[in-house]
Amino acid sequence: MLSNDEIAKKLLEIRTLMEMAGMSFYKYMAFEKAAASVENAPPLRDVAAAGELTKLPAIGKSIAVVIEQLLERGGADALDELYAIFPPTIVEVLGVSGIGAKTAATLWKDYSIGSLGDLEAAIAGNVLAGVPRLGPKTLENWKRGILAYKGRQRRMPLARALAIARDAIDYLRAGPPHDRLVYAGSARRQEVTVGDVDLVCTASDAAAITAYFASWDRARAVLAEGATKTSIWLEDGFQLDLRVLPDHLYGNLLQHFTGSREHNIKLREHAVRKGLRVSENGILNLETGDAIACDDEASVYAALGMAYIPPELRSGLDEIERALSGRLPDLLEGEDLRGDFHMHCTWSDGRNTLEAMILAAKARGYEYHAISDHSWGRGEAFGLDPARLREQRALVDELSAKHGMRTFCASEVDILPDGALDFDDEVLSQLDLVIGSVHSAFNIGRDAMTARIIRACENPYVTIIGHPTGRMLDGFPGYEFDYDAVFAAAARTGTALEIDGQAMRLDLPAPLARRAKEFGVTFSLDSDAHGVEDLPNIELAVGQARRAGITKDDVLNARSYEGVRAFVARKRKGT
Ligand SMILES: [Zn+2]
Ligand SMILES: [Zn+2]
Repeated sequence: MLSNDEIAKKLLEIRTLMEMAGMSFYKYMAFEKAAASVENAPPLRDVAAAGELTKLPAIGKSIAVVIEQLLERGGADALDELYAIFPPTIVEVLGVSGIGAKTAATLWKDYSIGSLGDLEAAIAGNVLAGVPRLGPKTLENWKRGILAYKGRQRRMPLARALAIARDAIDYLRAGPPHDRLVYAGSARRQEVTVGDVDLVCTASDAAAITAYFASWDRARAVLAEGATKTSIWLEDGFQLDLRVLPDHLYGNLLQHFTGSREHNIKLREHAVRKGLRVSENGILNLETGDAIACDDEASVYAALGMAYIPPELRSGLDEIERALSGRLPDLLEGEDLRGDFHMHCTWSDGRNTLEAMILAAKARGYEYHAISDHSWGRGEAFGLDPARLREQRALVDELSAKHGMRTFCASEVDILPDGALDFDDEVLSQLDLVIGSVHSAFNIGRDAMTARIIRACENPYVTIIGHPTGRMLDGFPGYEFDYDAVFAAAARTGTALEIDGQAMRLDLPAPLARRAKEFGVTFSLDSDAHGVEDLPNIELAVGQARRAGITKDDVLNARSYEGVRAFVARKRKGT
């Protein structure tokens, strides 16, 4: 059922389409007022159930009918009638800044431009050249508007945003002289998706740097906003904002542009109670008028009387209270990790050989790691059968001895729909450790999925549950199960839950990992690498663990080799 916000959006869409269709000002403004009313109303489904929609401000009988239809079927007759005149995709055209209702109506009527794609094609094909009132400058603005619109439509997975941020920083490093240069914003907070990248730079000559940034060959459009700020859009509309300020304000600047918005609002509220005003330009003492410039972020938090809050915790939840009372967790650091239990090689679906993976793990300085190719459940071409697994075991032992690397022989074993594993206990007992993962039959229902994962936890040979929710950042939200029941089972049975660092997974999601920690769960942070170049993805898992408030003590692969062995042995003995 649609939420109040979604219904308000639909009402505004009706309003806009009515204006485009040339209906009267009073008629379409009624929808605009109704949308504002809906945004501030209690949940509409309750109001409608009580038959009290018309008691809300600005909602008359006919708009109440529209809302009832939206609640019932997600659409409405009034909207359908308008869709008979304009295609639903015309809202994309209206989303391009500089294109209003009148222009959009003309573009549709005279040029059949009814979507963003149509508009792009028309501009590229010079269809609109020479049309009165559409000079080259207007078309240039529209092009920029199209990029901005595309960028607003989707957020980018963290891994890609970080790669872009690093590229931009590499480019800027080669440019005019500057002092400090970092990325801030949601990428620094390790949010799983990123809307735009914020870059923070300190330098004495800001104009030289913003001009250099604007001339980056990956920029498709540039928006300059004064001497200290420049925004660029890349080919797919992804936006990067660069701010340049004097170096003595670095701490204030970085703190401000790291966010989150919610965190900064709470921080400002706290500051005001202490008679201080916080901004990117320093901390102002409202009583004395003195300004404090902070050379680093820690000084910002110290000036406000609290412990330094790591960026990953700046979500606006309870971190400020915890920082004030000294209850912030001592977060896990990347260097605390001694190994990685989840990686594939050419024996299953990996791209590099077993030996290459061992050498790459050694080159990363790990004390130990595991090779965990797939089990045979989804076809022998894909995974290993017990005979092949025995062969692999021998080769793992041989190569790890040859290279002086502690390589666990493991397997990522499918958890079957009933919770049994794809190998029997006899085969599992030959492995150093076992990752149990759900890879199929996602739609068995919440209760069956809960029972399935709990049964896997209860298997004495299952050390780790791999990517526990199955979510994918490009669409699949994960299969449903009772999280609390599984977290309790994992803690009770001594089964670790994975935080999988594969770029599109990041699973467990941080809010669930935070919850699992309350149950006393042990975590395993892994790359789930399918090639040598994926091994650094373990850093993405570290970022998510930090967002969840996880410390070194919570993490299996922050333990010694003997500690890992003991964890496996304890569960197998059932003590
Ligand atoms: Zn898997
Ligand atoms: Zn895997």
